[in-house]
Amino acid sequence: MKLTHDVNLLAYLRARKIKLVHKRASWINRLIGWLLRVLTGNERYFSSQTTTMWPRRIYYNDKLHAKWTKIKDKHENSVLGQLDLGTAILRTRFWDQDLSGVLESIRPTMIHEFRHERDAFWMGPLFQITYLLLLIPVLLSFGRVWLELRAYKYNIAHWPGRYAKAEACPPKTGALDDRRESALAWVAESLWSVYAWPLPRPWTRWMGRRMVKKYMKKKGML
Ligand SMILES: [Zn+2]
Repeated sequence: MKLTHDVNLLAYLRARKIKLVHKRASWINRLIGWLLRVLTGNERYFSSQTTTMWPRRIYYNDKLHAKWTKIKDKHENSVLGQLDLGTAILRTRFWDQDLSGVLESIRPTMIHEFRHERDAFWMGPLFQITYLLLLIPVLLSFGRVWLELRAYKYNIAHWPGRYAKAEACPPKTGALDDRRESALAWVAESLWSVYAWPLPRPWTRWMGRRMVKKYMKKKGML
């Protein structure tokens, strides 16, 4: 099934057999979350970040878990009330409206993670090596930024309003429109701070601008 920004989310997960798993239900994510809490002093890894490490799995955060818990409670007397979100998506067909509602609320994130999942699939172990080991040298983790920008291009091209910052960005030659430049600046900033200073921000913006433009041209948006 082709990955596009408007793909049917449920159908895509089922076609590729991707299971959504709550981070706190996975020991490796509990370990990473614990390490990050020690290092950074915050719980963002659990509370707001969604993560893909390898094919067929997407690890979701507490925010989505809270939404899912509400649906489960509503259906507590049926089979759905006994299942976890990933299993419900892959194994049932009766509650598609509820399930699709919860996924649609985070569509930009899902499309972003779908890109990672697909890259993890075709790159094999190279995906993890590129993503993690190339952390060193910290300031020149080109591969990590490249993988993130491949996924963020959907967010910037289709939903810039969710990421655009209030302040205007300085005009540049060959720049994207204001909202997308602003969204790109937000991405460069968050890659810098959340993903441990992988590449100087102006480089990230330059690379991102090229990738978003190429994508938008391909889609007939430019
Ligand atoms: Zn990402």
